[in-house]
Amino acid sequence: MKPLRPLLNLVYSRTCVLCGRPLTYDEDVICRRCVDELPFTHYDFSDSHKLARILRAKAPVYKATSLLFYSKTGLSGKLIHKLKYHHHARVGPRLAEFLAPRLMTDPPHIILPVPLHPRKMRLRGYNQTEGFALRLSRLTGARYESRALRKRRHTPSQTTKSPWERWQNVRHGFELRTRSNWNGRHILLTDDVITTGATLAAIVQVIGQEFPEARVSVASMAFNLPR
Ligand SMILES: [Zn+2]
Repeated sequence: MKPLRPLLNLVYSRTCVLCGRPLTYDEDVICRRCVDELPFTHYDFSDSHKLARILRAKAPVYKATSLLFYSKTGLSGKLIHKLKYHHHARVGPRLAEFLAPRLMTDPPHIILPVPLHPRKMRLRGYNQTEGFALRLSRLTGARYESRALRKRRHTPSQTTKSPWERWQNVRHGFELRTRSNWNGRHILLTDDVITTGATLAAIVQVIGQEFPEARVSVASMAFNLPR
């Protein structure tokens, strides 16, 4: 990646995505001053912190980590918003570079992004989690399986349903299609912001049904800590 950087600098705007200041040659996407202010969780890739406990209460998650604490009005919220709605697609890979070293304590074999609903995908043009997942796979040596998980097209509106019906709806909202055998493998699911963890838990269940011997972990850009 390094030798390409001067070339990329010419192609992409060389200002910090958060504060707009010009970047120095050794800064990328986010300036050092803004990086210093990012709310890093410092969660290791394990089962022993708050995020892991929340997820493990819902599904048999092996390990979890998240790079930042999410706050809608803070720097992490601004960063995710730029990625999602302003086509700053390089934010995802940049955040992956910060997170990848944590995964090296127990590197996954396979990495999957949480799929976007096809309608959202059409509207937005890209899945903001893909760049993050793809860079994580390059940095950890894991295989990237972007098409293994699909969101079903017709998910009825959630508003008129009971909690149980909603859960069933989320749970059956995904399907798994892969030709490889994931039993005995370590699978990493990646997402942008984890709030309740319900979507991730549903996917972990779907994978577990198909491959009971797979270990499924979770990594996200940000975690919205419950109050
Ligand atoms: Zn900055």
